[in-house]
Amino acid sequence: VLQKADLHEDLKKALRSVKPKLLIDGEFVDAAGGETFPTEDPRTGDVLLDVAEAQERDVDRAVQAARKAFDHGPWPRMSGRERGLLIYKLADLMEEHLLELATLESLDNGKPLSVAKSSDLPEAIEHLRYFAGWADKIHGLTIPTAGKMQAHTYREPLGVVGQIIPWNFPILMQAWKLGPALAAGNTIVMKVAEQTPLSALRVGELALEAGIPPGVLNIIPGSGSVAGAALAKHKGVDKIAFTGSTEVGKIIMKQAAENVVPVTLELGGKSPFVVCPDADLDAAVECAHQALFFNMGQCCTAGSRTFVHESIYDEFVKRAVKRAAEKAVGDPFDESTEQGPQVSKEQFEKILSYIDKGQQEGAKLEYGGKRIGDKGYYVEPTVFSNVTDEMSIAKDEIFGPVQSILKWSTIGEVLERANATEYGLAAGVFTQNLNWATTLSRGLKAGTIWVNTWNTFDAGVPFGGYKLSGIGREHGEAALSHYTQTKSVYQPLEEPLN
Ligand code: ADP
Repeated sequence: VLQKADLHEDLKKALRSVKPKLLIDGEFVDAAGGETFPTEDPRTGDVLLDVAEAQERDVDRAVQAARKAFDHGPWPRMSGRERGLLIYKLADLMEEHLLELATLESLDNGKPLSVAKSSDLPEAIEHLRYFAGWADKIHGLTIPTAGKMQAHTYREPLGVVGQIIPWNFPILMQAWKLGPALAAGNTIVMKVAEQTPLSALRVGELALEAGIPPGVLNIIPGSGSVAGAALAKHKGVDKIAFTGSTEVGKIIMKQAAENVVPVTLELGGKSPFVVCPDADLDAAVECAHQALFFNMGQCCTAGSRTFVHESIYDEFVKRAVKRAAEKAVGDPFDESTEQGPQVSKEQFEKILSYIDKGQQEGAKLEYGGKRIGDKGYYVEPTVFSNVTDEMSIAKDEIFGPVQSILKWSTIGEVLERANATEYGLAAGVFTQNLNWATTLSRGLKAGTIWVNTWNTFDAGVPFGGYKLSGIGREHGEAALSHYTQTKSVYQPLEEPLN
């Protein structure tokens, strides 16, 4: 394991590109009371930068700026086509600054630079382009009515939207939220995660450079319990969109309920990955491995319950262990690294405590289980076999590199067990058998089903949760509908024409 953890010139340069402040009304400003918080390098726990920390009154300033930009600014008044062009421009600037943004993402989050460059950044850029294309295609309907009446609808922006995002894919989560909100003509106050504020702030500056008017995108780094809560309950906000834990999602819903504003939530998961007896074993092992270990296991869609048919179970476990053992864990800035550190001490400790629980509750630790090195937040890729449904590692969202392999016998049984969770974000099937693929896709209660693949996303395809995994959908026209409201207009006619 390599842990170089030095801040060489490229990293320092990327850090210097960030203004670690609050972005309010087109200006980078300090918190009114001068509060700051440190953002850490997960490779070492060292402080990267001190960042302005929004308090309630700063959130209020940001909401007022967004309100002014919505009520009096050009953004919702310009044509959709013009708005689209500015969003395309932002995407172009992100592409120009791809390496710098990917470097910030890796520094702040710990993810391998190679992944940030080839996955997070391109997907974020594509997402913005997809929604830029929608900006001039949001329109109402003319609806036939009974009698001498003409009726038509407009789809109008909601106004000021509050968006609260997590740390696992900072720039991608930002793009998922910005795309539909901006395309529809809303103005935004975005609370970025306290663990990873850097890339989002740089994107905020690029948005200004692209010509998106001041006050349209306000970014407030800060804590969840202060800045996040102040935003979620602010009376000047017309919608709340949140991605994060189910626990916080419930709090946010209550806060927003006071103001009767719509809430969309993208929450946790405990997604089942069902490997059928006929599966191409090597391909299934690799896909199940990626489904869980991608992004150090810090994915709401992690395939964290690997259900393997009894006829291939032992061989699957053997190969899964071999794959985990081959994993290149190390400094995210090494080209060969597949797995970097976890994002924070808190997450690191939570994961290690689940590994302990897994052992105490009787699962068999096949590989890993310990921290790596003595600084930073590196955890060994960990594989448990003999996992049963009632164990904590089979029920709770661990958000770490811990694979739990369960055994199944019949399709009916695995379907029931896979669905026996309060979550329903994603699920997967690995088989060549069409009947099994279709039966399981139909029967699994989750917002996304992956057949012989995992973590496939497209900006046009709806993504979101069943059950406690959330409300609403991101991506595609479904996401846009959460950022518009419909106005119906009736006008009498001289004669009934239809
Ligand atoms: P995770 O477990 O992924 O850190 P959280 O749900 O704790 O997820 O955090 C996701 C986002 O929600 C972060 O930006 C965090 O600051 C914010 N947050 C946490 N608690 C609250 C709260 N009580 N009100 C509003 N936002 C919050």
